[in-house]
Amino acid sequence: DESSNSPLLQNLNPEQLAAVTLPATHALILAGAGSGKTRVLTTRIAWLLQTGQVSPGGILAVTFTNKAAKEMLTRLTSMLPVNARGMWIGTFHGLCNRFLRAHYKMANLPQSFQILDTQDQLSAIKRLCKQFNIDDERFPPKQLMWFIAACKEDGQRAKDVPARDEEARKKVEIYALYEDQCQREGVVDFGELMLRSYELLRDNISVREHYQRRFRHILIDEFQDTNKLQYAWIKMLAGQGPHAPSDAAAIPGGSVIAVGDDDQSIYAFRGARVGNMADFVREFSVTHQIKLERNYRSFGNILDSANQLISHNTNRLGKNLSTDAGPGEPVRVYESVSDFAEAQWFVDEVKQLVADGTSRKEIALLYRSNAQSRVMETALFNASVPYRVYGGLRFFERAEIKHALAYLRLLENPNDDTSFMRAVNFPPRGIGARSIEQLQDMARSSGCSLHDGVSAVSGKAGTNLRAFVAKLDVLREQTSAMSLREIIELVLTHSGLTEHYKLEKEGQDRLENLSELVNAAESFVSQEGFGRDVVALPVDELGNSMRSPNLNQSPASQGLDANFEILDETLPELLAPDSETGETLSPLVAFLTHAALESGDNQAQAGQDAVQLMTVHSSKGLEFDCVFITGIEEGLFPHENAMNDAGGLEEERRLMYVAITRARKRLYLSHSQTRMLHGQTRYNLKSRFFLELPESALKWITPKNPGFSSGLGASSSWEKHSASGKRSDWASSVFSGRAEQADQGPAAASQRSAAAAHGLRNGTQVFHAKFGEGKVLMLEGSGDDARAQINFPRHGVKWLALSVAKLTIV
Ligand code: ATP
Ligand code: MG
Repeated sequence: DESSNSPLLQNLNPEQLAAVTLPATHALILAGAGSGKTRVLTTRIAWLLQTGQVSPGGILAVTFTNKAAKEMLTRLTSMLPVNARGMWIGTFHGLCNRFLRAHYKMANLPQSFQILDTQDQLSAIKRLCKQFNIDDERFPPKQLMWFIAACKEDGQRAKDVPARDEEARKKVEIYALYEDQCQREGVVDFGELMLRSYELLRDNISVREHYQRRFRHILIDEFQDTNKLQYAWIKMLAGQGPHAPSDAAAIPGGSVIAVGDDDQSIYAFRGARVGNMADFVREFSVTHQIKLERNYRSFGNILDSANQLISHNTNRLGKNLSTDAGPGEPVRVYESVSDFAEAQWFVDEVKQLVADGTSRKEIALLYRSNAQSRVMETALFNASVPYRVYGGLRFFERAEIKHALAYLRLLENPNDDTSFMRAVNFPPRGIGARSIEQLQDMARSSGCSLHDGVSAVSGKAGTNLRAFVAKLDVLREQTSAMSLREIIELVLTHSGLTEHYKLEKEGQDRLENLSELVNAAESFVSQEGFGRDVVALPVDELGNSMRSPNLNQSPASQGLDANFEILDETLPELLAPDSETGETLSPLVAFLTHAALESGDNQAQAGQDAVQLMTVHSSKGLEFDCVFITGIEEGLFPHENAMNDAGGLEEERRLMYVAITRARKRLYLSHSQTRMLHGQTRYNLKSRFFLELPESALKWITPKNPGFSSGLGASSSWEKHSASGKRSDWASSVFSGRAEQADQGPAAASQRSAAAAHGLRNGTQVFHAKFGEGKVLMLEGSGDDARAQINFPRHGVKWLALSVAKLTIV
């Protein structure tokens, strides 16, 4: 029939086609990287719309990043003339924000509630701890933050958390105080967005059933990384489990399609549960499970590397990937002497690639930890190569931007104490820590916000504080009728921020970022359509009403709260007026929300052709012609925090699998013998992951260099040896290749001479002025290069240069 001949469905393989055209049912698509999972989801949405099975309002699609959501929307609008706004496509956080904005009253939030990012959250917790004299040695604020986040991900309020001992009781008490504080200040953190939405749906049957009727098609990408609460939220929206709609029989079957890859589950540390896949199959009685095993992204050598690496994990659902694309180029492997040399090599390669016609945005640099980007950025900067960093310090997280946003938030909500604390003495206006403590005491005892507590503070402190508050109140007054741009410009000058950074020695960058904030606001306003006339109820090109049918009936006839009227699907909910007052959210609040949720993809040079830098975590779902994975070293990748347990190591391996599978045509892997990290030179060993890659797919590209002590640089192909078991520590079994070479070659001699020169051998107990007592695990190099790997029980395992480190034998 006509629908199966649709051009949308061309270029799909049979399994993909089956997945796209599934009937309205629950299904799990389990498939490896680059097999077209995301493409299948997007195409299915387009196909559902085109065949009239659903109107845009009936679709809910969850993506893992804002970037992915945007890409999906772009692809959709290129396939079909649809009104993208009617569809709910976004991240869990983004969708929950949209939901809570629509129902803020029922959610018991102020209309202009603000979102705390992780930084804000930490400072809110620190402030709370100070206020209640909580010992931050016993209860480090960061750990409290993780604790609270984990509780929320588990769907638990403070009152629900079991507290077995004194310590747990104290933590739960702090969680409760934190909940109160956020409620009082009208702010929510990321976990709260999710939990609050979940609770609203759980506790409000009319809202729940409305959405259950509305979202007939729920589609979730990257399902392997959903956490417990997210899964529960989906289950509820899909009307499964204890919260099934009262008239379930009357509602024709909806569909949940979950798409995932267990080998790409990389957020277990943040509560992700691969087990959700099995639960989904059971609890939704999934009958359709589809596997996609053909990879359309990468050439054979890249794919073989990924397959062989991941085969070292034991805990897998099991699937393999193949390609018709042929082997392609070998995977290039590079060893450098230092991280600087690695960066230089990287920049040289990039320049060569660009000269050969690769566009910069098709080149990605991936690293395990954010800290690794600095040296790379410096090298790129010095070579004038344009680049963009994703997922590092987001634009909106930079100090100067946070200061400006604090003032803007205070205009909207004077009771936002987090912002108050940030702005009160920045730029410095003579309000000291003592005065602030006095104010905090005052506010606590009278149960009001800091803003309101100011009037009760006496003396000079009170005068200064009142002047600050008066300044804010005047600003609020002045800006009430201004455009977003004017507001920000006025705030930047009147807060004194511009002046402050002008006088600061290195303030130029910060000033530029502040003017960038004005630009960001400007483009936000034009994107979101503020100030544009909006006509209600358009009909799309396909003749579908843009509203889902249920919304054409009056709320009352559906037993709904009047609040529903604010759900106008032709507009983003941010623009919808309050049903009682007619008030719309100000562009300022909408912008502040955007600032908290935006992953920083909207940086100034978004359109510029730039090399892409990001952590492996944030590269999930993306693809590039050329990928560099750098710093593939023991302790870095796999990360030292994860190396000691099997589960941690398997997650690191999945991360490496994600990294490798981002590449389409060319893949580079590099590691460095030395690296500056946290102000210390480290001598890292090459990662065990190298030994898990197929030799035949690799090509060693390090130039012959007599200065190399490891001997690896001299060989043109990777030498692999099986574990010899000659030495007992973990490194020797992983790096048996290296150890065997060392036993027989010049490196062995140098090792002995290092030992002789310093009187050290494996197992020697030593004392270091800073790290205390430790035990030598391994020795390497000779002369000035001699170094020892030492385990310091109080500081962990470190590599030290023997010519520098002052060690005494104990
Ligand atoms: P990941 O696991 O990394 O998220 P994925 O399974 O979501 O990967 P996609 O990003 O959807 O994979 O697809 C990978 C690439 O293969 C994309 O460039 C996509 O356009 C292409 N592709 C997918 N299916 C086909 C097909 N049938 N024919 C040609 N190209 C395809
Ligand atoms: Mg994908």
